[in-house]
Amino acid sequence: MTSTGERGAAPCPTWCVRSQPLEAGDAHRVHSSASLRVGPMLMRLCAAAGTSTSVSGPPFILVGHQRYTLYEAEALIDALVQLVDSGLEVTPREGA
Ligand SMILES: [Zn+2]
Repeated sequence: MTSTGERGAAPCPTWCVRSQPLEAGDAHRVHSSASLRVGPMLMRLCAAAGTSTSVSGPPFILVGHQRYTLYEAEALIDALVQLVDSGLEVTPREGA
């Protein structure tokens, strides 16, 4: 959702689903994507909203209440894939 605001506020990124317009003095301080649920965890993409005089903050991922930079989220994905791949190996170790 894109909003240019009426007082020259910075527009929302394309992934932001917040319905409030981003205007000076507005409570819309963080851009937020739709939430994805994996089991009990909710995840979403966020970024501090910019104003007409400041740029938006770098995007980050919220997993529950834990915040990850995009770089940290990529490292987490790689680690999870590595662990899942190890867990899916069907060949037992020799001697097992
Ligand atoms: Zn937004």
